[in-house]
Amino acid sequence: MTGCDKGDVSMQILIAEDDFTSRAILTAVLKKQGYEVVATVNGADAWAAMQQADAPKLAILDWMMPEMDGIEVCQRIRALETNQPPYIIMLTSKDEKANIITGLEAGADDYLVKPYDPGELGARVRVGLRMIEMQAALIESRKALAHEATHDPLTGMLNRRAILDQLQKELALAARHGNAVAVGICDIDHFKQVNDTYGHQAGDEVLWGFAQALIEDLCGYGSAGRLGGEEFLMVAPIRAGMEYRSLFDALHTRIAENTITTRSGALSVTASIGVACVTASGTVDEVLGTADAALYQAKNEGRNRVVYATTSVPHKLGTLSLC
Ligand code: GH3
Ligand code: MG
Ligand code: MG
Ligand code: MG
Repeated sequence: MTGCDKGDVSMQILIAEDDFTSRAILTAVLKKQGYEVVATVNGADAWAAMQQADAPKLAILDWMMPEMDGIEVCQRIRALETNQPPYIIMLTSKDEKANIITGLEAGADDYLVKPYDPGELGARVRVGLRMIEMQAALIESRKALAHEATHDPLTGMLNRRAILDQLQKELALAARHGNAVAVGICDIDHFKQVNDTYGHQAGDEVLWGFAQALIEDLCGYGSAGRLGGEEFLMVAPIRAGMEYRSLFDALHTRIAENTITTRSGALSVTASIGVACVTASGTVDEVLGTADAALYQAKNEGRNRVVYATTSVPHKLGTLSLC
């Protein structure tokens, strides 16, 4: 690309320049290169514009301006908490080494001295755009990694670590507010037979469909995650006066009624659920142990049922001084 090639047409650039003629020329230069210009006439206006949620990602700041100089604008922008800081170019007639150092130390990414060459300015703006793009790509890949680290690839729901973290958080919250947490471990009955009869792929589809129904059913009440295999964990915060058994009873009924579309046709499964409802005094391991024992009992008693651990709080919470 040469200095006068078009840049990203959708790209907004903020300029802060108090001198009318300089501002008009800078605006024209940038527009000619294909940018949309947000022109401000002093540092205070520039600072106000850069605080907006949809603020331009690149700013070209003059140093000497009324109300607030470019150095202060720079420092204020850098103090903002953001994961996508804007790219800042200082454009000033202050040309001494000490000035350049001050500008860069204040947080400018680049420093260009007036009078400037429009081609050089364009090239430096494009360096800024490259940095912005790299930064955005980095944020995206970080987001993707964070999602991967917390989600189960087959069902898309929270994975074991994430749902256990969620349980830990809910227990801490319950401790703070004097509430309780209902925890259900749900295991699909005779799932091995699904694989054996219809194949592993159909088994995967059942797991996916099962997980979506679980997420939908719990929506607004709590979270669900895959502990592993055909075992899922449900975590529901319970406030005083709430009846938590109906939540799991209804969930259990809907599981049996639900048909899941697979390549081998519509399939239905049942599940056994072990539930523990505890107040703040429970640790993650204790709660899981209690719910797991209830699940074991549900399996032993013939499957396709919900068993509530006897150490749970009464099914309707009153004062919550109990456990
Ligand atoms: P129970 O009622 O006692 O729970 O019987 P079950 O057959 O559900 O339990 P079992 O532990 O005997 O078998 C679980 C099966 O789940 C065996 C395993 O191959 C299958 N499984 C675990 N993870 C996956 C998966 O990601 N995809 C598929 N298709 N199958 C899985
Ligand atoms: Mg000025
Ligand atoms: Mg099972
Ligand atoms: Mg199992």
